[in-house]
Amino acid sequence: MRKVALRKVQEPPAPLGIRHGDMVKVMAGRSKGKTGKVLTVDPVKRRVTVEHANIKNVRGGILEKEGPIHVSNVMLLCPGCGKHTRAGHTTLPDGTKTRVCRRCNTTFEH
Ligand SMILES: [Zn+2]
Repeated sequence: MRKVALRKVQEPPAPLGIRHGDMVKVMAGRSKGKTGKVLTVDPVKRRVTVEHANIKNVRGGILEKEGPIHVSNVMLLCPGCGKHTRAGHTTLPDGTKTRVCRRCNTTFEH
């Protein structure tokens, strides 16, 4: 018998455009409007955890822990213009690829 619906499983996860250490703004959900540093990135589930955002109480409230947020609900914060932005990609004269703010063309350095 044929198995249920074919699903794409083996494709490598697309890059999220958000990396560990980036500053992001939460655009939706319980922590909407909060900004914080990206603590973890999960490219497979397309989720990130953001410092002080989406806090969950675990172990009966003894511990607080950042819960994962889908990348579509966060946006990068530009270090240059301070606004939430989408990152473009550019190649520097020395050949390294970097991300760049689409608003003000500040490059995101790491
Ligand atoms: Zn900018």
